[in-house]
Amino acid sequence: MSYLTVEGVMRLTGECFCGQINYEIRGVLRDARSCHCSRCRKAFSSQASAYAEVDPVDFRWLGGADLLTTYASQEGFGLQFCKCCGSTLCGIYQGEIHGVTLGCLNEDPQLEIGRHIFVGAKASWEKMPEGVVQYVGAET
Ligand SMILES: [Zn+2]
Ligand SMILES: [Zn+2]
Repeated sequence: MSYLTVEGVMRLTGECFCGQINYEIRGVLRDARSCHCSRCRKAFSSQASAYAEVDPVDFRWLGGADLLTTYASQEGFGLQFCKCCGSTLCGIYQGEIHGVTLGCLNEDPQLEIGRHIFVGAKASWEKMPEGVVQYVGAET
């Protein structure tokens, strides 16, 4: 299944849980990864993050951007959430879109998580699937 525009570019959309915020991407996502550290578990309310980078020129909000709220977790870097339902939609770097959370995508992005990082800090209740590329800490 493909989601190509008439120009032959992949088109993806994403939205939050309540559906009030939505976006589109015309282009491909890069470097899908999952971080299992305690910070990402909290930021994503999950066992790990699931995130891929996007080129800022390929991304635009379709609606509900006024409902976004930003938490700057590190210098220059932040996550944006829906004020209404709490979904984590994207990461921003120095005020520009940096990437999107894979969980908020509506379509198949035609990529797989390429690496699992900080598996050494994963929750005790998480069992890692076999066969995934994993690193104890950051990939170096
Ligand atoms: Zn929402
Ligand atoms: Zn992390």
